[in-house]
Order: sequence, then C-alpha cells, then structure tokens
Amino acid sequence: MNEYCVARIDELPEGQMKSVVVGELPIVLINYGGRIHALGGKCPHYGAPLGEGSLLGGRIFCPWHQSLFDARAGDLVHPPALDGLTRFDARVEGGDVFVAIPEGAQTWRTMPMCACEPDEDRRLFTVIGAGGAGAAAVETLRQEGFKGRIVMIGIEDRLPYDRPNCSKGLLSGEASDDWMPLRSEDFYKQYGIERMRKRVLSLDVRTREIKLEGNQQMTADAVLIATGARPRSLDVPGIDLKGIHYLRTWSDCAAIVATAEKARRALIAGAGFIALEAAASLRHRGLAVTIVAPAEAPMARVFGAPVGEMLRRLHEAKGVRFRLGRTVRRFIGDHAVRETELEDGTREKADLVVIGIGVRPATDFVRGAHLASDGSLEVDENLRVAEGVYAAGDIARYPEPRLGESVRIEHWRLAQQHGRAAARAMAAPREAPPPPFTAVPFFWTRQYDLSLHYAGAAPDWDGLLVAGDLEARDFLVFYAVGERLLAAAGTRAAAIDAFSELLRLGRIPTTADLRGKSADEAAAWLKERQAAEG
Ligand code: NAP
Repeated sequence: MNEYCVARIDELPEGQMKSVVVGELPIVLINYGGRIHALGGKCPHYGAPLGEGSLLGGRIFCPWHQSLFDARAGDLVHPPALDGLTRFDARVEGGDVFVAIPEGAQTWRTMPMCACEPDEDRRLFTVIGAGGAGAAAVETLRQEGFKGRIVMIGIEDRLPYDRPNCSKGLLSGEASDDWMPLRSEDFYKQYGIERMRKRVLSLDVRTREIKLEGNQQMTADAVLIATGARPRSLDVPGIDLKGIHYLRTWSDCAAIVATAEKARRALIAGAGFIALEAAASLRHRGLAVTIVAPAEAPMARVFGAPVGEMLRRLHEAKGVRFRLGRTVRRFIGDHAVRETELEDGTREKADLVVIGIGVRPATDFVRGAHLASDGSLEVDENLRVAEGVYAAGDIARYPEPRLGESVRIEHWRLAQQHGRAAARAMAAPREAPPPPFTAVPFFWTRQYDLSLHYAGAAPDWDGLLVAGDLEARDFLVFYAVGERLLAAAGTRAAAIDAFSELLRLGRIPTTADLRGKSADEAAAWLKERQAAEG
C-alpha cells in the first residue's frame, strides 16, 4: 500500500469532483458531506472519465451514459455499468489530500455477491431471456443474497452482450467482438448462474411451469420474463432476397457487416433509432446510404420535429439521402437484392438493405396472463405480473409515476433497471417487498460525433421548448404535457442529469420555469434548482 499526495484541498470545494491520475490509475476525488472521498475514476461501462460527470444528491453520474454510483462507497446505483467503483482511503493533512492505493489496484470492483449454496433449500428462480434485463437480474439476485438455483434461458448461442453496440461501434467497425460480452463464462460459473440455450415453448403464469424445446420442462419458484422484442417484419415482395437484414442481435450485426464488406449502396427502411445509428455506422464504412420512411422527419416521434430536422441535416451533411413520406413497395433482385421499389414507383439501387421499422414484444409463449394488443405484459410497481412471476424490459408495461399511467419503454438502460428491480422483488420476503420502481428513464443515441441524451418519459407531448442552437448542436429540448415538463433531451449531459434528478425528487419543472431561456440559462436554472432541492 502506498500513500500519495494527489491534490490541494482548496482545489476541491464542497460538492465538487476532481480527476487525478496516480501512477496510471485514474481516481476521482469527491468533496461531499463534509468529507473527501476517493473512488476509481473510470466508468466500468465504457471508461468515461467520471470527474467530468455530475455529482448530484450524493451520486456520481457518468457523463457518457448516466451510470450512477454512490459518491461515498462507489457502489453501483444504476446501470448501464454493472460494476461498482473501487473506494480508496483518503485523508487531508496540512491542506493536502492523500490517497492510499494498494498494490495492483484497479478502478472498478464487482458488487458483493453470494454464491449458489448447494445445501440451501433448492429453490429455483428462472430468468427467461438473456438480454439487458435478464443479465442484470441474475447478478442482482446474487447481490440480494439469493443462494438457490438460478437458470437463465436464452435462445442465442452467446454470452449476454452489449446490444446498444450492434447499431453503433460494432456495426461501424470501431468496436470489436471482444467488447461485446457483458460478463465472461467464468463469471457465471463463479456465482453459480446456470445458462441454458433453449427456446421456451410456453410459460404458464398460473403454475410457473415452463416447457422447453426438446421435451424438457421445469417449474420455477419464481420466474422473470425478460424476452425483449423482435423486429417488426416488412412484408413486401422480395423480402427474402439475400442482402436484406433486420438488426437486433449480434448475429444480425455480423451478417450486415459481412454484406457491407462487399456492398456499395445501402438502403435503410425506417427512420428511428436503428435507421439513424445504422446510417452513421454504414457511412463510417464508406457505403452510400439512403433512408426510406413514412415520417416527415427522422425520429420526430421521439425527439420532436425540430430535433428530427436537425438530425436529417446532420445525416445529409454526412452524405445520407432521405426519401421520406413513403415506404417500400418491393425488393428486386435475382438471388440478392439489387434494387428497391418505393410506393411512388421510383427505384433505389442498393445491394444491402437494413430494416428498422420498430419492434414487438416477444411474449407469444406466455399463457395465463393478459397480453395487451402490442403483446406487452402489465406489471405492478414491483414489476410483478402474477404471484412469483415478473416481467422486465421491452415487454413490460409498468406504472410510470410521473406520467400517472402504465407505459412500455424500449430503452436498454431501463431494461437493466427493470431487471435489477424485479430481481430485488423476487429475492425479497413476500411480506417486505422493495420500494416501488420509480427510476427516471434515460437513453442515449450516438450518430457520428453527436451524442444525444434523453431523460424522463413523454410518449406524447403538447408543448415543446427549445433552448439553444440546434444547428450548433448545443441545445436542450423540453417536452411538456400541460405545464409539466416530463422529459428533456439535448447535448448538454450535465443539464440532463440535473433534470433527471429533479424528476427523481418529484420536483417537475414547468414550462414557465424554462420558457424563453437560452441553453446556458436553462442549464444554470436546472443546476440551481437541483442544488436547492437535492
Ligand atoms: P423505432 O425507433 O420505433 O423506429 C421505427 C421507425 O420505422 C420509425 O421511424 C417509423 O416511422 C418507421 N416505420 C414504420 N413503419 C415503416 C415502414 N413500413 N417503412 C419504413 N419505415 C417505417 O424502432 P427501430 O429503429 O426499429 O428500433 C428498434 C428498437 O431498438 C427500439 O426498441 C429502439 O428503442 C431500440 N434501439 C435503441 C437505440 C438507442 O436507444 N440508442 C438504438 C438502437 C435501437 P414512424 O415514426 O413514422 O412510425
């Protein structure tokens, strides 16, 4: 163990963070609650410098993807990170800050987990689905002290992986395959988490009986349904031609990359998340890209028309062509796709097609529970569908406290949060359920060098406030239902963090608070209001 003098205390006012490097180890120093704390300074998710994030309400917000860590102990509070931060002893003497670093220290640590106890009563918890929600759930069960059997069932022949990368770095070639797994095989072995590669044919919610392909069946003491969604199919002639792909899985991404390596022109059907992120990634690979969608502006349903128009101009400046206000009539080719005919009869040449026209919850195997018309399962505030049965992620229609209604939200981080919350509820004694799920939804999208953050939930809104300069990519947008601002998006991560924190505290800003403000003024207002409330 060596102790290092890393900063002067007067460089670190109360409520502030500072990044330092000791040897090669990034450390973040935090002055919070009248004490100096020293934690690993790199987000365990993608390695963001945490000193550049926000310190709000005793929690550190990662500046890139809003992973949250406890500022004193470094514990993981919210994903997308799955690990916590290493805590180092820190002290102040003579105005200097000293930090003790053990030999071989690293910046992150796995959160404490129990192992499977073979002698425990053989309770079986089954998690159906090995995506973001399922993977977060199985480790949370062990963090919550559940020592019985855990079986995670998935269809893909893969370790749980980082799905957001499938349309971003993995598709563009900026990230490699070894980035993808969330955990190693050894990790699951160490914590006694069994992985099963099988298709679930049915789950009876009333009996928790699961039938699997190969004539297998099991009855679980508790079940989490975390099967996510499947791409909506585009049912037009020629859809089975080679070179036409959906994009949901790692294998889908690999297949697109294989086609892209020989292709020159890509056509993308859709103008949502998949379409725009895939367009940026394929442009990075040097392909010509055309986007076809019925909308008037890309992603306008999520971000509103002004941001949608900005995104269109951004993509156009990067060489993407848009054919909006129309859809695909048919694909043309012999074995492989060569051309695409649009509804208006015009044709686009393309030897690669990517379809990203939305998803539908993968719940067709669920019996004995009511499925909504979109295939989702209604859950309560503990993600519970029925006695001993829970649902998380894209399939779960859950009560969103600020909206005052149940919604289904398709965000990676929210799926992970759902998974963790459901696992806590599964592991808790029946008479003492955990507090209701109230996390503030958040997502990010990255297109070229533009990173947009969005916090809150406004599936519909009746007012839109824009603060800042969209073209300069320096802006905040607020989505209002009546007077209440239920969501914010923009390029200013710290302001979005402060906005999320206000929503968490139930201090929902109003249109009167932010109308007419510049981005600087809006960001300052959010920061001050959060500091006053936090
Ligand atoms: P999406 O974001 O819901 O977008 C679907 C798009 O397809 C919309 O632009 C829609 O237009 C358009 N569309 C609908 N029918 C069409 C048709 N027949 N022809 C052409 N376009 C059509 O869904 P997605 O992009 O497929 O993404 C799938 C899932 O992945 C979502 O759950 C999403 O959240 C997730 N994802 C998230 C991220 C992220 O958070 N950064 C990144 C990638 C994927 P209208 O809007 O006019 O209906």
